[in-house]
Amino acid sequence: MSNRILIIEDEESIADLEKDYLELSGFEVDIESNGDRGLRRALNEEFDLIILDLMLPGADGFEICRQVREAKNTPIIIVSAKKDDIDKIRGLGLGADDYMTKPFSPSELVARVKAHLSRYERLIKSGTPENDVIEIRGLKIDKTARRVWVNGEEKPFTTKEFDLLTFLAANPNHVFSKEELFRNIWDLNSVGDIATVTVHIKKIREKIETDSSNPQYIETIWGVGYRFRI
Ligand code: CA
Repeated sequence: MSNRILIIEDEESIADLEKDYLELSGFEVDIESNGDRGLRRALNEEFDLIILDLMLPGADGFEICRQVREAKNTPIIIVSAKKDDIDKIRGLGLGADDYMTKPFSPSELVARVKAHLSRYERLIKSGTPENDVIEIRGLKIDKTARRVWVNGEEKPFTTKEFDLLTFLAANPNHVFSKEELFRNIWDLNSVGDIATVTVHIKKIREKIETDSSNPQYIETIWGVGYRFRI
């Protein structure tokens, strides 16, 4: 299976050039020209690497880098015309893996993409034996890599969905009220209330349950809260 790469870049000519070279090297490539859409896709879909421009309409590259890094470890290569911006993103410690200044040679980009992908794959493989994994029937939660599989198929999870699922699965057969869950997963300054918990439970069920109305993992205990069934 070929690696999937997401390019978030609003300059069409640059995005197309990057895409052409990467496709010639056998990668599957998607382009997003808008920052908000790019961020959404980076969070909700599985890409093996992200090439990220900094100045974008919608969310900018700084924000995208920060949010993606909070949720997952996908390698990020920042590409920017301004060296100052690259210094800034380094200074902020947003967790990008590499930086390139425009203009750059496309073959240099391809070489760096390959280097980061193989480094990342080695990292995942070498980390596997020590990863903290919860396996319950067809559900596999890798707490270390923050990844979830249902019957062998990986499902994308947001940070809070992952935290909530992991909390429940790590404490099976224990009924938690919505208030308890909210307190444990969301910090005190979070905007929201216990309705947030309900919404997140619904989203998690859509991902892990075969039939959301007859859940096999997260049970609703009416009037009390939720319980993870083991
Ligand atoms: Ca730009």
